[in-house]
Amino acid sequence: MDLLLFHFAEITRCREHETLDIALASALHQLTGALSAATLAVIQAADDFYLQTRVTMQGNGRVRSEFEAPADPEKSVRVTPCDAALADAIRRKAGELEQRDGNGHCLLWLPVCLGDRVCCCVRLEYAAPCDADTRTLIRGIVKVYANHKNLIDYSERDALTGLLNRRTFDTRFARMTAQSGHARQAQLPGRAERRHSAQARENWLAVVDIDHFKNINDRFGHVYGDEVLILVANMLKASFRSNERIFRFGGEEFVVLLRAVTLKNASLAFERFRKTVEEHDFPQVGRVTVSLGYASISSDTPVVILGHADQALYYAKQHGRNQIQLYDQLVAARLLQVQSPSGSVEIF
Ligand code: GH3
Ligand code: MG
Ligand code: MG
Repeated sequence: MDLLLFHFAEITRCREHETLDIALASALHQLTGALSAATLAVIQAADDFYLQTRVTMQGNGRVRSEFEAPADPEKSVRVTPCDAALADAIRRKAGELEQRDGNGHCLLWLPVCLGDRVCCCVRLEYAAPCDADTRTLIRGIVKVYANHKNLIDYSERDALTGLLNRRTFDTRFARMTAQSGHARQAQLPGRAERRHSAQARENWLAVVDIDHFKNINDRFGHVYGDEVLILVANMLKASFRSNERIFRFGGEEFVVLLRAVTLKNASLAFERFRKTVEEHDFPQVGRVTVSLGYASISSDTPVVILGHADQALYYAKQHGRNQIQLYDQLVAARLLQVQSPSGSVEIF
């Protein structure tokens, strides 16, 4: 009983998803004698479901976390398709599914919902099927985990648009740039200048700002302004594959992070989004446009990278709005000056 309370306290103490998954795996491992315990993200593409391992705890108690995708954009993330039985359980949001693996071990799958959508599965491995009491215990622990996961998710999102909020951006972007910095240092000894080849896959940050949004509020009122924000947020979700990398940065500003994309494809995706907004007929308001500035996510600090995208956005605003601008291109064309981290300007 003491151990159960200890694990409940550990689970509910977590403030972000990775530590929460580790606390869950640890609880299931210690309290139910699982040979292994893992969490796997569920990714839906059309009608198919795919799994991406997040955290695995082996019998010896060793934990492996694959929460963040590899820092090196050239390395792909391992994603495996769900088999038919599991896909069916996910579709039905079934409580659990029991299977046998190649070693005759019993595999127990428990789909977990965020809101009304299955976001991940818990996979447990046992030498033999669990008795009824153990099953009840497993269900209880996973339920506490699911409740707490929903609470964390709620705290990470913006209430109006459902996008991730500014605080979440700060945390995730700091982690992403730290990783990119390590990866690059490992690859390139010394200071290497960044070059954008058409084929190289890189990570990108874009700042999106609605044009003349104040006018929309002034002419139609805040309720219509809010409606525009919601619709633009929905267009962002539809335009960029992973919802997990779109943020409402503040007022009418959004940030998009693209991972492992070539310059050409990043430009195409941003331009397609700009055009989607331009061509949409917003109820009552009519035409709305956005300006977008983007920059590659280099080994610089988060503040510097965000500053680059902001400079490109500012350039777009100064040169007619309703356009996308790439920081690196503006610098190469000498249309922007490079600002060093100290704030001084480097002249070429
Ligand atoms: P620009 O093209 O240069 O970006 O001009 P702008 O009018 O879009 O930019 P400005 O910064 O002057 O105005 C932004 C406005 O956004 C002011 C603020 O009242 C409004 N705003 C901020 N948050 C919200 C919100 O949550 N809902 C609504 N309706 N308006 C908001
Ligand atoms: Mg604006
Ligand atoms: Mg703004």
